[in-house]
Amino acid sequence: MEKPSFIVDCMLGRLARWLRIMGFDAEYFNDIDDDLLIEKALCENRILLTRDTGIKIPPDVGSIFIKDDHWFYQVRQVLMSLPEKFPLKPFRRCILCNVETAPVSREDVEGQAPPYVYSTQKNFSKCPACGKIYWEATHSERMKESLKLMVEGTGFEIEGEEFTG
Ligand SMILES: [Zn+2]
Repeated sequence: MEKPSFIVDCMLGRLARWLRIMGFDAEYFNDIDDDLLIEKALCENRILLTRDTGIKIPPDVGSIFIKDDHWFYQVRQVLMSLPEKFPLKPFRRCILCNVETAPVSREDVEGQAPPYVYSTQKNFSKCPACGKIYWEATHSERMKESLKLMVEGTGFEIEGEEFTG
């Protein structure tokens, strides 16, 4: 089964960010006109997420009209709208670029990660597009707690022992 990917309209930046954190491919542009948004949805087979009541969406474009103002409920609406449920793999995608991050060795990030981080963390990954480095502590407890609450009751589960316990 192909996992759904998304294209998110300009009004829904935080929703896009959370979908990326959850591991979804979610394209987002600060500024994009409706025609291009729809064209990209169609060509790249992405579900269009929008809050824009004025946008004319052709019937062959999959879309979800987002009802709530708050990102927490927006994420839940998207999750509940997806018919296929699968384990979510959070923290594997660059929040800024939507590109999958790759594990890198500790030596590779020497001088790039803050010294304290470098001396206390073992596992690092890096975005191949922007070079941003991620490590365990970049995923704060608060973020994990929000993830758990967002996913609760949607039929999805989050992979990783910190979520299943
Ligand atoms: Zn990046």
